[in-house]
Amino acid sequence: MPDGTLPRPGDITNRTLRSAEDLVAAGLLPEAAREAAARVAERYSISVTQSVRALIDPTDPADPIARQYIPNPAELVTGPQELADPIADEPFSPVKGVVHRYPDRALLKPLLACPVYCRFCFRREVVGPDGGLLTEAELDAALDWFARTPQVREAILTGGDPLMLSPRRLGHILARLSAMPHIEIIRLHSRVPVADPARVSPALLRVLETEKALFLCVHANHAREFAEPARAALARLARAGIPLLGQSVLLRGVNDSAEALEALFRAMLRCRVKPYYLHQLDRAPGTARFEVPIEEGRALLRQLRGRLTGLAWPTYVLDVPGGRGKAPLGPDFAAPEEGGGWRVEPPLGDAPHRHGPPDGPAPEPGRPAPPAPQ
Ligand code: SF4
Repeated sequence: MPDGTLPRPGDITNRTLRSAEDLVAAGLLPEAAREAAARVAERYSISVTQSVRALIDPTDPADPIARQYIPNPAELVTGPQELADPIADEPFSPVKGVVHRYPDRALLKPLLACPVYCRFCFRREVVGPDGGLLTEAELDAALDWFARTPQVREAILTGGDPLMLSPRRLGHILARLSAMPHIEIIRLHSRVPVADPARVSPALLRVLETEKALFLCVHANHAREFAEPARAALARLARAGIPLLGQSVLLRGVNDSAEALEALFRAMLRCRVKPYYLHQLDRAPGTARFEVPIEEGRALLRQLRGRLTGLAWPTYVLDVPGGRGKAPLGPDFAAPEEGGGWRVEPPLGDAPHRHGPPDGPAPEPGRPAPPAPQ
């Protein structure tokens, strides 16, 4: 600490906040809400790192960062459409810690701990600080499954958050996967670079060095998550030559406006993170307050087309319940026309374009839109 004072037992200024009491003490939760939050915490874990705490404006009751992590009693109400395992990990698990849904790729979940616990998490019934670390034998069995499944070309490390593993253990997993000739791609999904950037240490960077194509997919939902420590962590990863992708969830009260999405995707790109997926909310128990209807999500993305560089454009997807894969949700800019050809809505300009067959008549030239005011 700057004044040389040692932290007192129970001091919340230098550690992750893990209870309703911690949140009250940190000024992130009013005392009146403590008991209800503690009831939520009996079912769903709480974790707010000091990095995340520093991003929250405690005077703003609608703070988009706080909304992602501060428990709410609505979490204990399960809606009729909500499922404990919305994307169906369990039925597609051939051995503990592995999910094999698609022919060419499979998930490896070496642990179920995360740096933070998101209130909208699709795996909220299983993630938590105490559970899910595969034993040596279970990890071995999971890696053996990858070794004897040659149609799998891509291993996706998720969880939980694989960057919560010690560099030694993560290095062991990456070395085993890298030694399998049929594994071409290793992908890691992580919240760590924005939620606990100090974990992106030289030791971690060393174990991420592998002969295989390794991608890191960073989960972030708001531009403010890209504060200086996160930017520095992402710069370290980029300097290590790791391609960075961004994944976000469309969330009511967090990023449900064209301005918020634009700011998020631009913040990602400035950190060399290519927006990859924008997820429609998976209907996990008690998450209804975050849902943005699909038609609204499509309209938001439509507003961004043309005004935002194509580099910033993610694929908007729904993970179809039951483990049936990710379906792109649009928006669409083209529709087939009766009699052949396509009606295409240009992102710039006001008249639709008719894209007829190659031997058809020349199209009417459309009027381009003037450049948008800056
Ligand atoms: S970091 Fe990912 S897995 Fe962990 S709680 Fe958040 S959404 Fe769930």
